Amino acid sequence: MNQNDWSFQDDEAFNMALSQRTDELYRVPNLTPDEDGVIEALVLPLRDMVIFPHMVTPVFLARDASVRVTQEAHARNRTVIGLTQRDPEVEEPGPQDFLSIGVEIAVGRLLSMPDGSSSALVQGRRRVEILEFTRLEPVIKARARVIFESTTADRQTQALMRSVLDSFYRCIQLDHSIPEEAHLFALNIGEPGWLSDMITTAVSLNLEERQTLLLMTEPSERLKRINKLLAEEVDVLELEDEIHSRVQSEVDRSQREFYLREQMKAIQTELGEGDIWTRDIKELRQKAETIKLPEEAKATVTKEIERLNQMPPMAPEVGIIRTYIDWILDLPWSNLSEDNLDVRHAARLLERDHYGLKKAKERTLEYIAVRSLKPKKERQPILCFVGPPGTGKTSLGHSIAEALGRKFVRVSLGGIRDEAEIRGHRRTYIGALPGRVIQTMRRAGMANPLFMLDEIDKLGSDFRGDPSSALLEVLDPEQNHAFSDHYLELAFDLSKVMFVTTANTLGTIPPALLDRLEVIEFPGYIEEEKLIIANRFLIPRQLEENGVDGIQLRFAPQALERIIREYTYEAGVRNLEREIGRICRKVARWKAEGKHYPTTISSRLIEKFLGPPQFFLTEAERSDEVGVATGLAWTENGGEIMFVEVAVLEGKGNLQITGQVGDVMQESAQAGLSYLKSRAAVFGIDTEIFERLDIHMHLPEGAIPKDGPSAGITMATAIISAFTGRPLYKDVAMTGEITLRGRVLPVGGVREKVMAAHRANMKVVIIPERNLKDLVEIPKSVRTDMKIVTVKHMDEVLDIALHTEPVGEPPRPRRRQDEQTQEEE
Ligand code: ADP
Repeated sequence: MNQNDWSFQDDEAFNMALSQRTDELYRVPNLTPDEDGVIEALVLPLRDMVIFPHMVTPVFLARDASVRVTQEAHARNRTVIGLTQRDPEVEEPGPQDFLSIGVEIAVGRLLSMPDGSSSALVQGRRRVEILEFTRLEPVIKARARVIFESTTADRQTQALMRSVLDSFYRCIQLDHSIPEEAHLFALNIGEPGWLSDMITTAVSLNLEERQTLLLMTEPSERLKRINKLLAEEVDVLELEDEIHSRVQSEVDRSQREFYLREQMKAIQTELGEGDIWTRDIKELRQKAETIKLPEEAKATVTKEIERLNQMPPMAPEVGIIRTYIDWILDLPWSNLSEDNLDVRHAARLLERDHYGLKKAKERTLEYIAVRSLKPKKERQPILCFVGPPGTGKTSLGHSIAEALGRKFVRVSLGGIRDEAEIRGHRRTYIGALPGRVIQTMRRAGMANPLFMLDEIDKLGSDFRGDPSSALLEVLDPEQNHAFSDHYLELAFDLSKVMFVTTANTLGTIPPALLDRLEVIEFPGYIEEEKLIIANRFLIPRQLEENGVDGIQLRFAPQALERIIREYTYEAGVRNLEREIGRICRKVARWKAEGKHYPTTISSRLIEKFLGPPQFFLTEAERSDEVGVATGLAWTENGGEIMFVEVAVLEGKGNLQITGQVGDVMQESAQAGLSYLKSRAAVFGIDTEIFERLDIHMHLPEGAIPKDGPSAGITMATAIISAFTGRPLYKDVAMTGEITLRGRVLPVGGVREKVMAAHRANMKVVIIPERNLKDLVEIPKSVRTDMKIVTVKHMDEVLDIALHTEPVGEPPRPRRRQDEQTQEEE
């Protein structure tokens, strides 16, 4: 008997019988304690239950001794002590086997059960603490001190009671085995101890927990514990509830499906079209016969179809099995397109669709050449196209697929954290589906597509497993001939797929993955290249897409330049294409509305079409200023120019940096400052002023987090300019790490940074000497447009970046009053 059921019985007849006996129970008086508060009474050993005060419950009496105690107590109208065994397994408990706290209980008449066993109704009265056992045979007797509990609650306890009641209410709402009246009952209990005991008996707690609660003689302690337990219980119940409703909605769905099927069946019978269900199964069998499946898949699908056939169409699993069968039958297990390995054909195609991208094209042609010479060679490197957005990675992938005569599919891995997104969920999950790899293969419809995995640098990982290890398996030629998807549970052959990956940056690609990749860089374009790409590719395509290819719309070169400089600021050409598209659409609209429309887009018209410029070439309006240095940053979108502004204010020698600056960058600013201090004499700075001035350094575009050591020389230059009053040349940009002694160390992303400086019309770029090797990757026209200077030491930087003479007065703190007077004296 579950002690939960106390006076709330399911079985009504039993309940009736019991309730007739309760009156009798209530009439049994409590024992009167002696002057020490001690009572002596028979003990009713309780095996696997705990009786709490106020609780009315039937007790099963399995042992003869228990029957005797009950009979005697009832006959003499006396209470006994209900005492729970520590271990329910002990058959004949001795003194050491009981809990130290028991409950004085009233015992009703012995009830004989139909199966020959006996039980009695009991009612808990109050906790007692066992002092000693005065008799052990034939029945146990003990002396115990009555524990009187406080019946009132202080404010804190009242708050606790309210919280317990709230949680209890929530429990009742979720757990339908507790009757609603229990809450009403609980609401009307004013005593903290009683309330906790009442709730303890109402909710489902295990024996151990009940024992613990019985042993807690302090009501507020008990309340605290029950409060915690209830909160946990509510958590579990809520989870159960959620799972239940998910299952329910799944069931509802399949029932609806069934209903619709039945209706369809009826309609079809009406139309004389036969039983759709049998037809369905027949179709599936036929399909499984005709398509070429690997043996394992064939066996599985045949088995599943027969399972389906055995099932009544209304069975809830029907939908799930059906979906599974469809997945197996729809996958391209062995459809292979034939590769076109004609290298010249491929070369023509790549050239036709793309300007520039020499390295990428060459590598692709090599790949095709190797394939054509060694068609059986399975181990192919996996290409990884790395570069800022809009530099033609996807579009080149398309062309390669076209050249090879393969299907092209792509899937973005950006933001995936869960391994299951790649490998699927097991079918036991509700709403399970295969992972993205298998889904994409179905979309491809071919077993050997060109499969582009985008944004592998944005792959995450957390407690749900590491998606990159699943990805490794996908890409590994040793393993991917039998790729296992959790949903499919069949080995799927990915070895014929040509995988190409893309990324914006290499830095965040997991090293194990990077190891497998052959990196091809897409560096971004300079203005001249953008102009050519626009004229050859973007404009014709946009004209056609927007239906204006009929009119000879022309973009003046200056107009394109303006779009590039003032409306887009990017390494690639994605925004450029978008802006061109906007103009084409406007022209299309004017034409459609019968309005007059221009046939040449001149530079003057740009603002009319695109609104006010979005990027000003800031340095055009800037002048050479004190304390503002131009740095170069590297971001996922390619390079960017970045300003460092320094103001020197009166203060106490603090350096404050604002604009979302990371730790490394902060340290590098400190290094710059230390360098200045150590060389103060050379710059003609009185070292004393460092104590009296605060330095505020700000890196604008505060919303963008910045970090890394590569702004070191820029920050140092800005600080030195601010202290010496020597202005900085506005068209000198720089990048480089600085040491305390002013040495300049190499940095990453130099090519992107130099390109960004070029876009921003800088005239001079300062880079660390050890980055010299990176210059070969910079287009010649850029190198001739700008002066690129390599430096080893900060002194060289200052020579190039700073004017020799200060403008106005360099900062000088006001002398303190006392010092002034001293001097005057
Ligand atoms: P990514 O995949 O690198 O983000 P896309 O391949 O989507 O870039 O390129 C954006 C647009 O720019 C596409 O329409 C593409 O055709 C065009 N494009 C980029 N580079 C070139 C190029 N070198 N020649 C011709 N078109 C290009």
